[in-house]
Formats: sequence, C-alpha cells, structure tokens
Amino acid sequence: MAFLEIENLQKTFGDLRVVRDFNLNVEQGEFISFLGPSGCGKTTTLRMVAGFETPTAGSIRIGGKDVVNVKPNQRNIGMVFQSYALFPNLTVAQNVTFGLKVAGRDKATIDTRLKEMLTMIGLPDLGERYPFQLSGGQQQRVALARALAPAPQVLLLDEPLSALDAQIRVSLRSEIRAIQQKLGITTVYVTHDQEEALSMSDRIVVMHRGIADQIGTPVEIYNHPATRFVANFVGTLNQIEATVADPERGVVEVAGQSLALERKLSHPKGASVALAFRPQALHMGKGEGEIPVRGRISEVQFLGAVIRLKVDVGEASISLDAFNRAGAELPVTGSELTLSIAPSDILVLGD
Ligand code: ATP
Repeated sequence: MAFLEIENLQKTFGDLRVVRDFNLNVEQGEFISFLGPSGCGKTTTLRMVAGFETPTAGSIRIGGKDVVNVKPNQRNIGMVFQSYALFPNLTVAQNVTFGLKVAGRDKATIDTRLKEMLTMIGLPDLGERYPFQLSGGQQQRVALARALAPAPQVLLLDEPLSALDAQIRVSLRSEIRAIQQKLGITTVYVTHDQEEALSMSDRIVVMHRGIADQIGTPVEIYNHPATRFVANFVGTLNQIEATVADPERGVVEVAGQSLALERKLSHPKGASVALAFRPQALHMGKGEGEIPVRGRISEVQFLGAVIRLKVDVGEASISLDAFNRAGAELPVTGSELTLSIAPSDILVLGD
C-alpha cells in the first residue's frame, strides 16, 4: 500500500474543470514533483492534498486513512509556499516553534526541536531575527524549518524557489533534497521548472490540462517521453514530421526519403508521427552505423559550455549542441556540414 494515494481526483470551479481525473500513489519517503505549465492544475491538486480545497470528486488517503473530510491542521502535513508566508511580527525562533506551541508541546521539547531545526537549515544563530532582517533564501529556509518542526508525515512545497534568484535557487535545490532524504519524509513539490523537477525528484508527474500525462523517474521522463506534450515540455527537442511506411522493419518516410530506424514500431502503416531527438544526440561528422544528415548552419549560439547550432535540413530546422572545447573554432553561419545520429536516439511520437 502506498503512503499517499490519490484516486480519480477531480476539481471544478464553475464550468472550469481544473483537475480532471488524477491518480497517483506516492511511496513513503518518496520525493514527487508535479511539473507542468501555468494553469495545468498543479497547485489546485496540492491544495486538495493539504486540505485547502475540497475535491469535486475522488479520494485522498494518507497512511491508509481517507482525509478528504479532515481539516488541514489535522492532516499532519507541513506546507511551504512560494511567498514564504512567515509571520512578520514573530522572530525566526517564534516562527519555527509556532506549530509546536499550538500543539501544546512542553518547553524543553520545543527548545530542543528549535535547535535541531535551526541547525538543519544552517542558521543556528539567527533565532532572534525578524523575517525582514533575512534574505529571501534565509526566509525560505525558515519556512521549511517551520513546516518540518512538528514532524509532519507529508511535506508539500508549492514553487518554493520561484521568488529567489538563480544562484540561491540552485543551492537550495540540493539543500531541500538533502534534508528530505535525511528525514525520509514523503514529499510533493510543485514546480514549472524542469531542471528543478529533474534534479530533485524520485519521480515526476508531468501535468497537462488537469491530468497526469506521464509519471516516471527523471530519466524515464527525459529519455522516454510518452507524449508529444511531455517531449516538448521537458528539455529541448527536435521534431520532424514523418509517415510510417513499414512498422515491422521500422521504416519511415521523411520528405520523400526512406529512413530505417532498425526497430519495430508500434504505430500502424500510414500513421503520422514525429521523429524526435535531443540536440545532444546529433554530432558533427560521420558515425559508424549512424544516419548521416546534410545541412547548412543558419545560426550559432554560444552558450558557454556548449555551442548550440541551428541547422537547416531540407525544409526542417534542427538544433544541435556541440561541446565548447578550448582551442576549437566556432562554426560559421552559412557553412555546410554533415551530422549523424544513432537510430536508437530517435524517438517516434504519435499524436
Ligand atoms: P500556476 O503555476 O500558474 O500556479 P497551476 O498549474 O498551479 O499553475 P492552478 O493554480 O492549479 O494551476 O490553477 C489551475 C486553473 O484553475 C487556473 O486556470 C486557475 O485560474 C483556476 N483556479 C484556481 N483556483 C481557482 C478558484 N479558487 N476559483 C476559480 N478558478 C480557480
């Protein structure tokens, strides 16, 4: 039995079906991200788990117990918001111990827990400060400590890093993940940032228009996107339209040319598909057993670690990443080149 079970969850606001039929089982200690574009229903789903919204239909069980009719403060959940939501008139120490005081814990327990929490977030000496005397990153650490102090069963985070600048975001990613793993707490994390989801999660739920389009590990989601939506939303992807000519032998037609993908295809003969591949799957020059592609460079973007080239191939334009090596010359716009790609690096996506 999974620790958090969400079954046939739905939420409608007036005529708007925000969450359509959402199903998910989260194991104890797992870190799950809800990833998707603005408005796909991530926050609404999280708020239903927290108890701030009532589902239109469906069930939510935590530790085997149906919580749909349980008040938020009775669910044993800790929540962190994008806006920190610290009490401005309380010190860091008072913020962190707030939940413990409400729960009527004794002073010795509260003091011990406060010390543990402040050490855990790396701010052991800032207990007497007020929120306005802290940086955004420090405030969010305090919000995390406040959520975790009462030792909840589930931690919910709603875009907790979105308001912070890039450098702090990256370091807090690792800190949150390390704390989550140390405590072994079951966690659901809402984000629209694919790098956050890929780098932090055990599994990712890619949401699209109120349903889970795909649920999988970061590697599965990135390497084997199940739908065109997932493929487009997670990472950069080249796509070329093609028609299946022989599914048994894996032959497709692209712009009048036959291409052998050397594997059986699940799509029927005549089906319209997209051949999809990551910019890093292509490389310059010819490769043994690989498909050669002739093209002309239309754009050169120097990104530091990599050089991203846009290359016109017939009617299509594709992106290609080349590593920036010391001493290597930048490719020149307008020049012709041969690229190659392994057939196994080409995904075939249906509608
Ligand atoms: P974002 O990243 O922008 O927060 P999201 O995926 O978290 O996006 P939700 O906040 O769940 O999306 O919102 C999904 C849709 O539901 C949006 O169109 C939003 O306007 C609508 N919505 C959310 N809450 C309410 C409400 N209380 N009343 C009416 N509509 C709402």
